[in-house]
Amino acid sequence: MLIALLPGDGIGPEVTAEARRVLDAVCGTALSYEEAPVGAAGYRAEGHPLPPATLDLAKRADAVLFGAVGDPSCDHLERALRPEQAILGLRKELALFANLRPAKLFPELADASALRPEVARSIDLVIVRETNGDVYFGEKGMRTTPAGRRQGYDIMSYDEDEVARIARVGFETAKARRGRLCSVDKANVLETSQLWRDVVIEVARDYPEIELSHMYVDNAAMQLVRNPGQFDVIVTGNLFGDILSDQASMCAGSIGMLPSATLDVNKKGLYEPIHGSAPDIAGQGKANPLATILSAAMMLRYSLGKPAEADRIEAAVAAALAAGHRTADLGGTTTTSQMGDAVLAAL
Ligand code: NAD
Repeated sequence: MLIALLPGDGIGPEVTAEARRVLDAVCGTALSYEEAPVGAAGYRAEGHPLPPATLDLAKRADAVLFGAVGDPSCDHLERALRPEQAILGLRKELALFANLRPAKLFPELADASALRPEVARSIDLVIVRETNGDVYFGEKGMRTTPAGRRQGYDIMSYDEDEVARIARVGFETAKARRGRLCSVDKANVLETSQLWRDVVIEVARDYPEIELSHMYVDNAAMQLVRNPGQFDVIVTGNLFGDILSDQASMCAGSIGMLPSATLDVNKKGLYEPIHGSAPDIAGQGKANPLATILSAAMMLRYSLGKPAEADRIEAAVAAALAAGHRTADLGGTTTTSQMGDAVLAAL
């Protein structure tokens, strides 16, 4: 099975290198790898954040393991050439529409959460975020109002098929867990959200065993901090999911702990930590590689049909934490490669 390895920028190469070591230890020669530049690295090598050869590799591969993109030196570039466009391009070109972000607190990290330990301990949820539509992909631009003032605009829209497709992923994910799905929208204000809610209710008829609830996004943001244990699976649109999943990450300890998967209809996927390229700590050996290592575990489980190997990696991460290893984001001094060593030792 071929893995497209796209390390990207900043701490991306550091954390993907550790994930690769762990995959080698668990899967050996069952997996092969091809590496290609993406983000600012792609721009520097080929003049584009998603060079054609990188996209071709991602399409050929059985799964994509992605580090992070983003580099302050690219801030002056036109938007289409900025590193972050590579992610949007990959999502669009590979038709990756369902982003799964588990947020679960490892018991050893209860003190690292922004929440009180007794509240944080209850977090065990998955946010299913639509990633192929919404305001990020709508018509956008700058124009001048009749009064001669500059005006920016971004059109938010979803059609019913897009909503039904992601709703099904939400229901299926809930089915494989504790059977509860909370759909998050802003139906009291937005037409897009009203359609979202109507369609989710229609799809729910195919899932009578799932307990469905609805919540406005502002309330969801509050409830995630007040009582995160009430959630099993949350399904929501691209914009709301972007914000809520980062919030959930801080509740679960550190952004350096959280993996993600973005899947197409055939469960081919792109796997990446939810954090960015962290230019403030790049090259210093301070990055926590566990989010990327856990992303590799998700890859084995969701795209490569290797759940036992995924379990082994997750258990090894828990063991490394239980043994007291902590990178700087978790309040310790363990370096990136030492954390990789600790996971390998636990394997
Ligand atoms: P960030 O996630 O890169 O960093 C936020 C903070 O968290 C920083 O203080 C950073 O040091 C810390 N952090 C992040 N990952 C860590 C890890 N693994 N271990 C320890 N600490 C970690 O977000 P940002 O600073 O807002 O963005 C930096 C760049 O990354 C920007 O160019 C942004 O566009 C890009 N970005 C990329 C992605 C992606 O590639 N998927 C996601 C978010 C942001």
